[in-house]
Amino acid sequence: MKPIFKKMVITAGLEIIALSQLGRLMPQAAGRGVIFTLHHVRPAMNRPYEPNALLSITPDFLEQAIQEAISKGYTPVALTDLPELLAKGDKNKRYVAFTLDDGCRDNAEFAAPVFRKYGVPYTLYITKGFVERTHTMWWETAEVLTRKADQFQFDFGDGVEDVICSTHQQKHAVFLRIAQFIESMDEDTAVNRLNEAAIAHGVDPMKIVEDEVMNADELRELAKDPLVSFGAHTVSHCCLTRIDAARLDREMADSIEAIKEWTQKLPVSIAYPYGWKRACGPREAKAARRAGLRIGVTTQPGVLTNYSQDEWMLLPRVSLNGFYQKRRYVAALLSGVPFRLM
Ligand SMILES: [Zn+2]
Repeated sequence: MKPIFKKMVITAGLEIIALSQLGRLMPQAAGRGVIFTLHHVRPAMNRPYEPNALLSITPDFLEQAIQEAISKGYTPVALTDLPELLAKGDKNKRYVAFTLDDGCRDNAEFAAPVFRKYGVPYTLYITKGFVERTHTMWWETAEVLTRKADQFQFDFGDGVEDVICSTHQQKHAVFLRIAQFIESMDEDTAVNRLNEAAIAHGVDPMKIVEDEVMNADELRELAKDPLVSFGAHTVSHCCLTRIDAARLDREMADSIEAIKEWTQKLPVSIAYPYGWKRACGPREAKAARRAGLRIGVTTQPGVLTNYSQDEWMLLPRVSLNGFYQKRRYVAALLSGVPFRLM
């Protein structure tokens, strides 16, 4: 399905669920609560071309989401408290945990004050290579490159070609093609090739990371907030199912070690990069356990139920998506109904 149609279908679905209050008819669909996934939290950019807009919500919408969850009787808790609460807590209570991936600087600037205002705990997933400026964020590089360039040369695997991206539609198509390229070949090689193309067009991929992601000093500062916890998000932000076992262990251990050093808080959870089905499974869950972690979160949508210990390593999360920033959509997501219908 074309992204625009997919978006329309999801919007329509959320509207129907919100309007019909289907959640009231299916209270069991809400499970024991939900873990929300966020990335950027910042004022709207309102750019005409913003392929990563889904990864960005406004501080206002975050506040609405918290208000909606609290008004529906959810207790905001730290992710790390969930296993015990679900096992031993009041079975009639529902919980909500907030998680933010990639360690964006705007999390400290715009999200932390909102969490503080409501006393809501939150977990930040930190990528060591972003903090240390050794790795770049290909989706951000691809956005800036396709926004800036009308044309560039690139080898998608069949030799160098002229890539045209002068219209809005072409830019979107090229962005998707880059995403597919990253997923289809060795990720390090693909990201390097993209970085080279970006640099050739005056786009500095590392500068994007510097502008968007907190460094070690900023993490140290944020760690003073009693509401914050930190979790691992690997070293390179690669798709873990596509690397060998030795690197998989390093991606976990090295990021855990660095976070401990920077924040003086030992991470106990991991967010697998990308988080979709092809990006994490039993092998990655096992490696996370070996690294000493006891919770793993994916981006596969779903509400919380009662889990066995193994299932704690592959928990579903619900994205607070920049495309759907309405309080009534939060109500629809909390109801769990969308995930029953999918
Ligand atoms: Zn991420």
